[in-house]
Amino acid sequence: MLRRSAAVLAAAALLAACAADPGVRSGTANSGGPTAPVDGTTTSPATPTTGSGQPGTTVPPPTTVVPGAHDGTGDRLFPQLGFTGIDVQHYDVTIDYHPDQQSIDGAVVADITATTALTEFWLDSVGLDISQVTVDGAPVAFQTQRGELVITLPAPVSAGTSFTTEVTYSGRPNAAASAVGIPNGWFHSPGGSYVLNEPDGARTWMPCNDHPSDKASFTFHLGVPAGMAAVANGELVSHDTEAAGERWTWDQAEPTATYLILLLTGQYEIAESQSSSGVPILSVALTQDADLLARYNELTARQIDFFEQYFGPYPLARYGVALTDSFGGLAMETQGRSMFSSEDIGGRFDYGENLLLGHELAHQWFGDAVTPADWGDIWLNESFATYGEWMWLEEAGLGTVDDSARNALANRPPGATGTPSVGEMFGYNSYDGGAAVVHALRRTIGDDAFFTLLRRWIGENNGTSRTTADFIALAQQVAGQDLTAFFDTWLFATRPPSSFP
Ligand SMILES: [Zn+2]
Repeated sequence: MLRRSAAVLAAAALLAACAADPGVRSGTANSGGPTAPVDGTTTSPATPTTGSGQPGTTVPPPTTVVPGAHDGTGDRLFPQLGFTGIDVQHYDVTIDYHPDQQSIDGAVVADITATTALTEFWLDSVGLDISQVTVDGAPVAFQTQRGELVITLPAPVSAGTSFTTEVTYSGRPNAAASAVGIPNGWFHSPGGSYVLNEPDGARTWMPCNDHPSDKASFTFHLGVPAGMAAVANGELVSHDTEAAGERWTWDQAEPTATYLILLLTGQYEIAESQSSSGVPILSVALTQDADLLARYNELTARQIDFFEQYFGPYPLARYGVALTDSFGGLAMETQGRSMFSSEDIGGRFDYGENLLLGHELAHQWFGDAVTPADWGDIWLNESFATYGEWMWLEEAGLGTVDDSARNALANRPPGATGTPSVGEMFGYNSYDGGAAVVHALRRTIGDDAFFTLLRRWIGENNGTSRTTADFIALAQQVAGQDLTAFFDTWLFATRPPSSFP
């Protein structure tokens, strides 16, 4: 993500916003606090019933009902997001959008594997009216509380068990302050709608395991009024006219984090192309901007060629840009098709446009293909996307990496890139300040090892969620040296050195 002008304001307003919003989950707000009880069933595993469980089989009693505390994954910044006891394999999402009422009707079918013994599991869900939940086709008990949808399994399951749950719901989602104080969620725009999910907005329009450690494939069946289009990640597999309007089905086969979902409605047109290496490019823009798409697809193809030289083959099935009627200053690396405001990407092809386009494309390697396993590892996204942005600006003749790095290092405020607070997550030291750390690593291990490291990081981890510790281990392996002192000095120190190695 990149919010050029908004970042500083957002960071400054953060603490007040967090305190004012009861829905905010920050490390500070939750650490050490009492954990609310779930319900009586958590300490007394339910007896297997004759429901839809596994009739005729003996289900062993779970040794652990819910992992750890009853809240979330224990993420370093947002401990209550997500649920560690499940691994969602695939989401099949049906959403009908009613722009006149600014409302949605939805059904999410999730194919889930238990990662521990469970009698219940939790999805993240905020502000949605849940009408029914089924597991393997049979209705089950559920309750909503504190941003969670607690679903009781018809019978206890052991680790490794797979089941399918369907949540039917409706709502009037409207973007609201996120955990970092900036609005996210579902935005009603002049021409339709768009979503911005990072870090915790998906749960406001779709019950899900809303944490980057659990990536899944997706199918979206999006219903809109006649004459409208709907766009999501991935491949357009069908477009049908129905009595109630139109239905657009998109399939995203690659593992994708919930914060990287693209979902647009409006008068969109599609333009397709491909890079010289054969990467399919599918871009969308509102009708009034559609004549720009061919030129952006041409620039995108050149950018893919450039980055592939350094980061390795483009790691996903396709790419493209989505120009939407969002507020300006926002760009988001939605997987396989980055989202930009038509205010920012409007045919100028200037420094700002090259910066935004380079940044979000670089994210497809750093963040989308390989995703942080914890929001505290956000530098693995933003510092590397910013470094890619600098590399593209140099290629485009708009500034050198050395100058960008020098300026960034000189402008760093105090704060460690590797251990951000909630307020610092989208702050300077995750972006330019962190890209200076990346540059210092390049200077320390040399160009050959540095770019080998980047290519192996993507090539060996594509489709997964990884940690800073994973990155450091690979860096040391590739460089053939102990880099403890380097990372302590540059990544984890509040005040890194003032000049590069
Ligand atoms: Zn970014």
